[in-house]
Amino acid sequence: MKKTKLTELYKELGIRDEVSHFGDRILDSLRERFEEIDQTAEYNQLKVIQAMQKSQVNENCLHYYASGYGYNDLGRDTLEEVYASVFHTESALVRPQITCGTHALALALGAVLRPGDELLSPAGKPYDTLEEVIGIRPSKGSLAEYGITYSQVELLPDGTFDYDAIEKAVRPNTKLITIQRSKGYLTRPTFSVSQIGELIAFVKKIKPDVICMVDNCYGEFVETLEPSDVGADLVVGSLIKNPGGGLAPIGGYIAGRKELIDLCGYRLTSPGLGREVGASLGVMQSFYQGLFLAPGVAAGALKGAVFAANIYERLGYKVVPDSRESRHDIIQAVELGTPEGVIAFCRGIQAAAPVDSYVIPEPWAMPGYDSDVIMAAGAFVQGSSIELSADGPVRPPYAVYFQGGLTWHHAKLGILMSLEYMMRDGLITDHDIMGYDGLLTGDTE
Ligand SMILES: *Cc1c(COP(=O)(O)O)cnc(C)c1O
Repeated sequence: MKKTKLTELYKELGIRDEVSHFGDRILDSLRERFEEIDQTAEYNQLKVIQAMQKSQVNENCLHYYASGYGYNDLGRDTLEEVYASVFHTESALVRPQITCGTHALALALGAVLRPGDELLSPAGKPYDTLEEVIGIRPSKGSLAEYGITYSQVELLPDGTFDYDAIEKAVRPNTKLITIQRSKGYLTRPTFSVSQIGELIAFVKKIKPDVICMVDNCYGEFVETLEPSDVGADLVVGSLIKNPGGGLAPIGGYIAGRKELIDLCGYRLTSPGLGREVGASLGVMQSFYQGLFLAPGVAAGALKGAVFAANIYERLGYKVVPDSRESRHDIIQAVELGTPEGVIAFCRGIQAAAPVDSYVIPEPWAMPGYDSDVIMAAGAFVQGSSIELSADGPVRPPYAVYFQGGLTWHHAKLGILMSLEYMMRDGLITDHDIMGYDGLLTGDTE
C-alpha cells in the first residue's frame, strides 16, 4: 500500500513506473553495501560528537558574533579545536576567510615552502586548479614565480604508485609532497587512506623531514580513518564539500601539526598576527552544525554514487568506480558515449533539484576547458558540490561526473530522473530496463 503511494508521488514528479521499479530492483541488490556505508557513518558521527563534547562546545560558541579584528573569537577557536580532534591532529585552521578548496591548498603550500624548496607530487598530476597555483601552467603569483620548483611522478599504468621513480624524485631540497586522495576529474582510481599511509611511510623512510600534505577534498568521512591518522602532516579541504555538511556557506580547513598550522595562520593573515585575527562574522553555527551533519551527508552521497554505478553499469555503460568497487570518495563517473547522453543526464539531475529545478542546462564554453561543458546544479550554496550536482565536458568519451546529494533520497530522485530523461530522449528504451529482471537472478557476488 505504502509502496503504491510512493510510486504515485514519483510519477507526479515525472518518473514513470518502469523507472521506479527498475530502481527498486537495483536497490534490492545493494542492502549490504548500504549497511556498510551506514556503519561508517555511525562511527564518524560518534567521532564528531565526541570531539564536540571534549571541547565543551556550548551555545556561546555558536552565537559568538565577533567582528573587527576578531581577537578571542571563542566560536572560531573552539571549532578549530574540534576539527583537530576529529582529524586527530595537534591543530587546525578553519576559517570563512579561506574562500574555497583551491585557496586552502594554495595557502598551505605558500605557508610552508620557501624559495629553493621543491614540491613533489608522487602520484601524478594534481587537481586542475593547482596547476596555476604551482606554476605548471605559468600564472601570476604562482609558486614558480617565488623560486619554488616542482616535480611529478606519474602513476603506473595500473594506477598504483611508482615507488622506484618516487625514490629517485625525492631530492635533498624536497620539502613537501602533495597527495590528492580523490581522483577528481581524472580516470585514475581514488586512493584509499591505507594506500596513502603506505606512500607516506615510504617517502618518510627516504627523507624523514619531508612534509606530507593530502588534498582531502571529497574524501572526508568516506572511511573511518582520515589521512592524518596514517601519517599526513597536513590535510586540506573545502567546507562546501563533505565537512561543511551542506550548511557551511563558505570556508576551508587545514588540519595538522601545530608548527605548520601556525605557518598557515601567518600566511592567511599576516606575519606576526597569524591566527589571532579573522572574525567569524556569524557563520559559526553553520560550521558546527554542518560538521555535525557531515558524516550522514557523506553517507547519503555515497549511497547515491553506488546506486548510480549499479544502475548505469547494468544498462551497459562504463562507470568509474564500478558497481562493486570499494569507495574512497563521493565522485561517480558515467561514460554515456554520446553528447545527447551527457545532456539528458545533466538535465535530469537539474530537474530533480530543490532550487532552480525549472532551469534547462545547456552546454557552454567555459574558461579553462577545450570543449563545451554542461553543468547541473540546483544548490542552496553556489557551486556547492556536496549538493547533488553533475557536469560533463561535451567531448569523447562523453563522461559525466556527478557527486553529492544532501540526502540519499534526493540523490536517488536525481539518478532516477537522469534515467527518465535518457528514456524520454530515446537513449535508453523500455526494453533495456525491462529485460533486466532475468539478469538479476543469480547475479550476486
Ligand atoms: C574541489 C577540489 C579542489 C578545489 O576546490 P575548490 O573549492 O573547487 O577550489 C581541489 N582538489 C580536489 C581533489 C577537489 O575535488
